Amino acid sequence: MSKKFKSLGGMHDVFGEQYDYFDKVREVVSRNAKIYGFKGIETPVIEETGVFTRGVGEQTDIVEKEMYTFKTKGGEQVSLRPEGTAPIMRSFIEHSFYTKPQPVKFYYFQPFFRHERQQAGRYRQFWQFGFETIGKDSPIVDAQIIVLAHNILKELGIKDALVKVNNLGCERCRDKFKSALKKYLKSVASSLCSDCKKRMKKNPLRVLDCKECSVKEDAPQIMNFLCKKCSDDFRQVLELLDEVKVSYDLDSFLVRGLDYYNGIVYEIVSSSQEKPLALGGGGRYNKLSVLLGSEEEIPATGMAIGVERVVSLMKEKEVKLEKDKREVFIAQLGDLAKKKALKLFEDFKKTGLPVFESFGRDSLKSQLSRADRLGVNITIIIGKEEALAEKAIIRDMDSGKQEKVDLKEVVKEVKKKLKENKK
Ligand code: AMP
Repeated sequence: MSKKFKSLGGMHDVFGEQYDYFDKVREVVSRNAKIYGFKGIETPVIEETGVFTRGVGEQTDIVEKEMYTFKTKGGEQVSLRPEGTAPIMRSFIEHSFYTKPQPVKFYYFQPFFRHERQQAGRYRQFWQFGFETIGKDSPIVDAQIIVLAHNILKELGIKDALVKVNNLGCERCRDKFKSALKKYLKSVASSLCSDCKKRMKKNPLRVLDCKECSVKEDAPQIMNFLCKKCSDDFRQVLELLDEVKVSYDLDSFLVRGLDYYNGIVYEIVSSSQEKPLALGGGGRYNKLSVLLGSEEEIPATGMAIGVERVVSLMKEKEVKLEKDKREVFIAQLGDLAKKKALKLFEDFKKTGLPVFESFGRDSLKSQLSRADRLGVNITIIIGKEEALAEKAIIRDMDSGKQEKVDLKEVVKEVKKKLKENKK
């Protein structure tokens, strides 16, 4: 017997109920994104590796440990995208979006790839939806993305979303903060975990979000190092969130782990669990454009939310999806009846009244019991005899009454009956 294949570890097939939940999230995201003026974007699954090493940063976990990187047959060094922001900025620069009216607002719903240690809720291929507003440095565009994500989660039944916010400051504030932090970390170096001992020199901010090192509790706070513009911008974002009643918590240990952030950073968590569950996050990234080859700094801000996490929370909260409700079922018996039924299905669809069918089944009994389970009001039956005579039976499922009509009159008759039934 030849080998039976399985999907790769950490990669999963999306089907059945899971697919329906994905569809629901996709629908709510794209409808809301359009209302807020975001246009959809799809970037390729594979990019030149430099987009991520330069954009996301060499010292980050994503780039250092988790990227799927390989050489193509043509010798190019490429990576499966581990996140969406750097490719979108690459696209913005490549297609000169800076010549268009600013800001440009994008949204996406795409799969991403990270070779992470396998554990519950962490996949190696996972989906995110996200928003990027590029070309404007103003607190209101940061606030709007947070509000939009918050509204989407609320509409999906996640009403306990809490925003944790911090400010990483501009380069000047951050440099001052970094040297104070380095000095402090040096003084407590013996109590740091082995990873943080390395991070302390190259990427000291990362020590702040280490789950193991508790010495950070006494570390200097970035808020005390912010310049006037950074603290004014931050205060304004918070005031805007207050204005629309989006709840947030200040969290001075939130650093988000990627190199490209500056200014405001945030994470959205679901707060009702014992341990808050991170659903997504984002922040401002004014420097990314320069890292990706732009001569000018292009101000930008954005966030991404994990679809699997949202879906698992929706299931946990028993958020129900709308049922596919149709009022009519077409049953058929025999080859000629199948032909007539296929045509009739199309006729119904054209008039904006989609109907159920079970063309893959041959037994009339099993088709009728399916019609029963689906709870339709009317079943149309085309048997062998009816097909030959260009007729069909219309059966009222409540009363059991049946009537034979000409095939070409079926749509009209069914619509009439449905109207009468509603009276
Ligand atoms: P990040 O891009 O790391 O900030 O992640 C944003 C959100 O994407 C997280 O809060 C998760 O909801 C989701 N996410 C990130 N990595 C994974 C993963 N490996 N598996 C499933 N979801 C993920």
